[in-house]
Amino acid sequence: MSRYDIAIIGGGILGTTISYWLSTLYDLKVCVIEKENDAAKHTSSRNTGVVHSPFYLDPIKRKTSAVSSLISHDLWEVFAKKKDLPWSEVGTIEVASNENQHKTLEKYMKWSEQNGIPDNQIELLDSKGLLKKEPNLHAHSGLYCSRDVSTDYGIFTKELQKESEKHGTDFLFNKEVVDTTDDSEAQITFSDDSTLTAKFMINCSGGNSLDIAKQCNLAKEYDDLHFRGEYWIADQSYADLVKTNIYTVARFSEFPFLDPHWIKRSNGTTEIGPNAVPVATPETYEGYAGELNAAVSKIREIFGGNVRRLLTNRSFLSMLSKEFLSSISKTAMVHRVQQFIPKVQPEYFTKHGTAGIRTPIISPKGEFVKDILELVGKNSFHIVNYNSPGATGAPAYSAFLIKKLEDKGFLDYSKKSKESFWNFEEIVDLF
Ligand SMILES: Cc1cc2nc3c(=O)[nH]c(=O)nc-3n(C[C@H](O)[C@H](O)[C@H](O)COP(=O)(O)OP(=O)(O)OC[C@H]3O[C@@H](n4cnc5c(N)ncnc54)[C@H](O)[C@@H]3O)c2cc1C
Repeated sequence: MSRYDIAIIGGGILGTTISYWLSTLYDLKVCVIEKENDAAKHTSSRNTGVVHSPFYLDPIKRKTSAVSSLISHDLWEVFAKKKDLPWSEVGTIEVASNENQHKTLEKYMKWSEQNGIPDNQIELLDSKGLLKKEPNLHAHSGLYCSRDVSTDYGIFTKELQKESEKHGTDFLFNKEVVDTTDDSEAQITFSDDSTLTAKFMINCSGGNSLDIAKQCNLAKEYDDLHFRGEYWIADQSYADLVKTNIYTVARFSEFPFLDPHWIKRSNGTTEIGPNAVPVATPETYEGYAGELNAAVSKIREIFGGNVRRLLTNRSFLSMLSKEFLSSISKTAMVHRVQQFIPKVQPEYFTKHGTAGIRTPIISPKGEFVKDILELVGKNSFHIVNYNSPGATGAPAYSAFLIKKLEDKGFLDYSKKSKESFWNFEEIVDLF
């Protein structure tokens, strides 16, 4: 049986950045446990690839995510430049289709200031200003943030894995955790019947985090749902119809992860998407649960309690049916994009992009949990609901988390700082 000081479950961007910090701050025996044969095989490679600026995040209700993504922009930039990784400064325009949505943009301008975005990097444009910037973009108004970047988080994660390994972290691949306990220390059992013991366990297993937290008797009253986001790739001759990322003010403020965007990828391609189709597992990248009704009853069957309450929410049901339509029909997704880029046509999109799956958490009240859910066990810490802009915020959030674990007495070891791309003390002071 292997023994570690700290075992991290999940080799996505979160588990890997935490391991990097631990490896540069301490001399500890740390492992990252990953069921796949490589890091970042799931959400951390299957996302929109945007380094988000937190203008759209409520500075109070989503403070942790807002601060993390603000600080992490510069941390990722340093990393990308030092390692020569994708970093494409495309900017983002969030568009409003009417006066009512424009009020949301005005609110975002206030949030932007409160969240610390420099005011020379963000501006409100009217429809003429939008046309001047992007001649094929038609909307009532828009908020242009020049600071947003397109990158490839899968590449970032794998490069950071190498740096973490250089400092002594063991990445244990092809090891699927099937059971955990955290009583006197953390005991982890794998699908091949082998076991591992650690003084402390950090659970960053993405779409499986809630299940693993429940094994340690935490968050029993919470549920989760899985939504697949699908993309379509624009044929290269139409990729530059618009040169900036385009997002739209959310139709349903409770479900901000909906509404297709026009996305400029760091490899020069352009995609539209994602939508949000309910699927049975965090890794159902293909196939449908069936028709809408079948999907709804599948959700009912898999999850009881809270999800049942959520399913009585009318806007949730309306959202489900529209998302299903845009999944089954490319034309329906393109129609949504035509509302702000009228020139796009369904035949411009002939290839599917890479689908990714979000796992929002449902509270005991039957509502989506808004920000990251952190759960403290006896000898474990669990990060649940680590959704967008989680990839953006990972380096600063991980530093903040380590400070939290230090303050709680879980990392009672003397520090041995090694060379790092980022300065831990400077970052944690900003929270
Ligand atoms: C469609 C979509 C678009 C997004 N766009 C953006 C964006 O533009 N910008 C942004 O900042 N964020 C974006 N996000 C969010 C971002 O991608 C996530 O917040 C982030 O990748 C989560 O990282 P993670 O390490 O927590 O999870 P993951 O990347 O899912 O990693 C978890 C790991 O745990 C492993 N694991 C799970 N269960 C077990 C087990 N039992 N045993 C061993 N290993 C296990 C998995 O194999 C996986 O590798 C997007 C997300 C989605 C779905």
